[in-house]
Amino acid sequence: MCGIVAYLGRKVAQPILVEGLKRLEYRGYDSAGVALLAGDAIRIKKTSGRISALEAILDEPDSAECLGVGHTRWATHGEPNTANAHPHLDYTGKVAVVHNGIIENYSTLRTWLQTEHVEFASETDTEVIAALIGYFYANGSGLEGSERSDGQNRFEWAVQRAIQELHGTFGLAILCSDFPDMLIGVKRGSPLILGVGDNEYILASDAAAIVEHTTQAIYLSDNEMVTVTSQGFHTKTIDNVTVSKDVKQIEFSLEQIELGGFPYHMLKEIFEQPKALSTCMGGRIDRQNNKIKLGGIASYLRELTRTRRLILTACGTAFHASLVGEFLFEQLARIPAETEYASEFRYRNPIIEDGTVVLSISQSGETLDTLAAVEEAKERGATVLGIVNVVGSSIARATDAGIYLHVGPEIGVASTKAFTAQVTVLTMLAIELGRRKHISSDQADGYISELSQIPDKISQILDQSDHIREIASANVDRDNWLFLGRGFNYPVALEGALKLKEISYIHAEGLPAAEMKHGPIALINDGMPAVFIATSGPQYDKIMGNIAEVKARGGRIIVVATQGDERIERCADHLITIPDAPELLQPMLTVVPLQLLAYHAAVLRGHDVDKPRNLAKSVTVE
Ligand code: GLU
Repeated sequence: MCGIVAYLGRKVAQPILVEGLKRLEYRGYDSAGVALLAGDAIRIKKTSGRISALEAILDEPDSAECLGVGHTRWATHGEPNTANAHPHLDYTGKVAVVHNGIIENYSTLRTWLQTEHVEFASETDTEVIAALIGYFYANGSGLEGSERSDGQNRFEWAVQRAIQELHGTFGLAILCSDFPDMLIGVKRGSPLILGVGDNEYILASDAAAIVEHTTQAIYLSDNEMVTVTSQGFHTKTIDNVTVSKDVKQIEFSLEQIELGGFPYHMLKEIFEQPKALSTCMGGRIDRQNNKIKLGGIASYLRELTRTRRLILTACGTAFHASLVGEFLFEQLARIPAETEYASEFRYRNPIIEDGTVVLSISQSGETLDTLAAVEEAKERGATVLGIVNVVGSSIARATDAGIYLHVGPEIGVASTKAFTAQVTVLTMLAIELGRRKHISSDQADGYISELSQIPDKISQILDQSDHIREIASANVDRDNWLFLGRGFNYPVALEGALKLKEISYIHAEGLPAAEMKHGPIALINDGMPAVFIATSGPQYDKIMGNIAEVKARGGRIIVVATQGDERIERCADHLITIPDAPELLQPMLTVVPLQLLAYHAAVLRGHDVDKPRNLAKSVTVE
């Protein structure tokens, strides 16, 4: 979590940093700050709160300050107050650091530095990095094990020397007051991109802070660093070995990350889904031959058809998409599949046998738990494939091959279009494997044709947004909700509950509808909202029974049903309808009203939908 941005160029740095931080604010928003350098004076401004709070305390930009680093924080170590906000200065006042990640051995390092009479001004793990760099910079290579190669820049050397001591993850941007024309970036585990403009450079956690200035960028890999001056940039490993990096084109535009008339990114992204899914499927569905082409994993398809066991691993919303995937692979391709929380998979001594394929799913491609699961699976010999949205992200690079969502940047912290796109990709993959293994060509053709109609059907659901707001309004005073579904719609029930929790702070539980009677039914009291997904399908009659059970106990019944279902109209207190579709394609439809329900509930409760409390977008800490 957290966003870092740094600038070196000919322009005044402060407004560029502030603008960049606003673009990255979805990554963390509990405190913010900037450090600017002109001559040999570092000027730091920082505060708890959002970027707007930082703006309120900033002085007029100083035109001499053309180098600076900025940070928007999601606290891991130390409460989100001004002292703990980044940038952090070292004890000599020469080195300023912004950091995304966690230093696991910070406590040991801090104790050691204190024995060396270093004083600390914050409780953060990050300050240890600044202090270490300052310590090595001040003491030079006189220390044992600290030889500096001839001619190497002292600041760069001190950074490398400090990095040797760090355990954990970091994306860093660092400046030193003795080098007013030098910016250093270092990456291990947290993302870091260098935008390469016309005589200017922007180092940032993600491309959103860069695209306004340039669409050319280099993506640092783990254990790499970049030293930037006005003369150019130089990439090397943290062990000082030069590496050459290709400058790549950033794939998205400014327009994609702006609100475009919507009050919130989340609402924009909900409404983008028809177009986003069309793009996601575009070029991949060959309607003429009724085939699905997934270029990214083409060379793995034969291996996939021989898969004996598929493990899907993910976190949060992507975990719910994976659960849908599990059902799809079993039903369409008869491949035994199971979904694991990435954080659990990694630590449970997983069994990887010949023929096991691991499929990891993450919108950002930076989710640390998922990345760690990928590494674990690779070490154990599995073929590891990825489904990610952000091109060039860590998971995209760590996996053997993968499929991109191609839905453009997702800024809203509560994931929406990424979920439907993840399910779309999983559906395409399952249909293609099914066609090769288990289902007839005719059946595959039927599913492909139905899949192509999903974007239009989502548009029809979006037309009900006002009606869904009324439902939210009638129930928004209730503090406990249930979400219930069966079969393919059981993961959607989990996702509906998660959405409501994330942004409206209403307690909600998602359950397989039949599980309710094994315990949670005790929760139902008069007027408790119970959201049922009771669409057409093999379990329709069963879920009607579950609805009756809740109704009999005074629950308020909100139903997502298939258009034209008159029977359900009679028992629902509130009804939302979706166009008919085969059960296995329904999750892409049934989730949409639940996204809208959560959105409207959060707005009605007066919350900042795009910046829910305690959360941030990509979870790059364990
Ligand atoms: N661990 C650092 C802190 O707590 C950085 C957190 C972040 O990535 O925002 O300040």
